[in-house]
Amino acid sequence: MMYYLLLILSCYSVTVHAQEYQIPFIVSPAFEESKQLGYALCAHSNSVYKKEHKLGVQAQILRPYDILSYDVFMDWQKPFLTPDSVLSEYTFSGHNTIAYTLIDSLAKEIVLNGALMTIDSISHNGVLLSYNSFTQPYNGEWKCIPGNTLKTKDTNIMTIWYTYKGNGRDGLFVFPKGMYVDQYPGTGPNYVEEKLVYTMSEPEDARIWMPCNDIPNDKARSSITVRVPFKPNDGENNISVAANGNLISIKEGPLSSDIQYRDFYFRDTTLIPTYLMVANASIFKVYSDWYVSDNKKDSIEIINYVWQKDYDGTKTDGSEYNATYSLGMTVGMMKAFTDKLVPYPFKRYGHTSVQPFSFGGMEHQTQTTINRTWLAGKSGYGIAHELMHQWTGDLVTCGTWGDIWLNEGGATWGEALWGESWGGKTEYMNRMLAKRRDYLNINNKNQQPPIYGISIDIIFNYATTYAKSSWIYHMLRTMLGDSLYYSTLHKYMNDYAYGNAITDDFKSTFKKYAPNPKIPYDIFFDQWVMKPGHPILQFASLREFKENNGDTITQYIIQQKQSAINIPNVFHLPFTITFYGENGKKSTQDIIMTDRVYEGYVKLPFRVTKAVIDEQHDILAEKDTVSGVFLSAESDYIPTNCHAIVYSNAIESRIKVFSTESRDVNIHIYTIQGRNIASISESILSNEQKDLLLPDLQEGSYFISIQGMAKPILLNWQHYKQ
Ligand SMILES: [Zn+2]
Repeated sequence: MMYYLLLILSCYSVTVHAQEYQIPFIVSPAFEESKQLGYALCAHSNSVYKKEHKLGVQAQILRPYDILSYDVFMDWQKPFLTPDSVLSEYTFSGHNTIAYTLIDSLAKEIVLNGALMTIDSISHNGVLLSYNSFTQPYNGEWKCIPGNTLKTKDTNIMTIWYTYKGNGRDGLFVFPKGMYVDQYPGTGPNYVEEKLVYTMSEPEDARIWMPCNDIPNDKARSSITVRVPFKPNDGENNISVAANGNLISIKEGPLSSDIQYRDFYFRDTTLIPTYLMVANASIFKVYSDWYVSDNKKDSIEIINYVWQKDYDGTKTDGSEYNATYSLGMTVGMMKAFTDKLVPYPFKRYGHTSVQPFSFGGMEHQTQTTINRTWLAGKSGYGIAHELMHQWTGDLVTCGTWGDIWLNEGGATWGEALWGESWGGKTEYMNRMLAKRRDYLNINNKNQQPPIYGISIDIIFNYATTYAKSSWIYHMLRTMLGDSLYYSTLHKYMNDYAYGNAITDDFKSTFKKYAPNPKIPYDIFFDQWVMKPGHPILQFASLREFKENNGDTITQYIIQQKQSAINIPNVFHLPFTITFYGENGKKSTQDIIMTDRVYEGYVKLPFRVTKAVIDEQHDILAEKDTVSGVFLSAESDYIPTNCHAIVYSNAIESRIKVFSTESRDVNIHIYTIQGRNIASISESILSNEQKDLLLPDLQEGSYFISIQGMAKPILLNWQHYKQ
């Protein structure tokens, strides 16, 4: 793609920074920061009208028409000309010209969305409709009965004049200059630097600032024109507008009056859903970075709208906002994603920095909105997340809100993908493990819903829609390998480009282009996406046997321990078991577990000191590391009537002792030199598995002898401090 800046206006300065790809400055995970600052990525709170209008994903609206285009005009002079104080009500007038065709030729009514607005008048195919031909918005909807002006085969053109009236805190946001925002670590007290008006719509608030078909799968072409006050003598100290697509023109008027305005006209030539449409206005500094592809064939302009103070910031220690430093990383991110995915799908990109903003960032098509706090230089992962959305969310949009995990899982996985571009596999896994922790921490006691098919009120829950969903992408990658995974992801992005995909489309793309996976896709998606929870894997046994020929065989038994309503009793899992011996000896075995218990045998050239389930983190699971093996005196593989095993996790080591008969046992821990350093006495009931905490020991090798069992047990045990 080539993009030339055709429009050069003296009153609209564009500064260009040549940016080379560089090692990023980011270390702190965006989510950690988001938690500190009390907002989430791309999430949206309940808005005014939704308290009475809750739409379940299963009740996806199918309307009998297809919108082809929106041409929105909004006159924002009034909110800008109000005094600089917080008002209880703001108002603006606008009109939206909608081109549409009927899908159902028998349809008589056109139901559209709208909220916090009055419909003033409607022109339908050039005919002004009477007032009783349309209703006023109620519960987020209204309808129009075009009568005999309706064309059943051709394109219909409908212009709706409307007036917004609201408190500027939902869908449309208005903040006066000088308003106190909050106290943030590093940057201190924050104030609104310039009067600010912006829209924020996901999932269902576009209807607050324009009448529309407010569902994600009726994508249309769009233009947005916003009228804002203009003072010719104030030069650059004038209001600018940022919206989707390209700025086509800025028109001034009326030239004779004292109060003048400018109309900023943006057009997006690619299809867009309503929730990704945006308009922002303030006295912004506007400047550009450029991404130029390695072969110099593609160049993408990244146009940033920030407050002058943040553009002027020079510090890089987080003590002030520094837009050029913080957003400069976008060039490298675009290279990272373009290298791994399909080419950047739009003609340009950019950010608008706003504050206050209840969220971290929002992936508005070609013009992401970010929280101003991201300009402190510590939110690279957030900036990468929003850029990744241009592929997962904007190029391919979730078909329903129930499929939002395709958007958010992709963008969250994209954070790790960007990490991999500069920090290799280590940084990739660091990021994925941070998401794993986020999921497991929030999912405490299995309270979380499944990824798919949940109510719209909870679709932005972090644990599943973001963290667990990112692992769906990761697990497909580890199951298929990079080559097949990426080629299939490319097919998905090409096959559904500029359209929508539902979960079944995603699944069928993998079925088609990456057949015969280790775990059948129907099982994979059912257990991970349709059902809640995750597997918990434990070693039930790890023993060594001497064969008659003198060879040593290691037997291991792994159990799935998850147990809760709706959580799969059995997960089908491909993973690796890693066995360690003395002096760094190591061996791995790949298994596919399709039952609650897996029993395996391996002939190893060393004594096992430690065994780890899924050390590479190919699957999302809670899992044990086990150290030490039970030395069996038997020569066959029949499980004994008593056994013991030592488990370690990050915090502690425990010993589990099992016996088919009740007995008193004495457990003695010896150093490798034979000094007894701890003893535990316990009574075990028949068929009881006793779980005992071991004393806190220094890292090293120990013997554990267990007396009182049917046969004495001696464990050679390597204790790790993790
Ligand atoms: Zn997101």
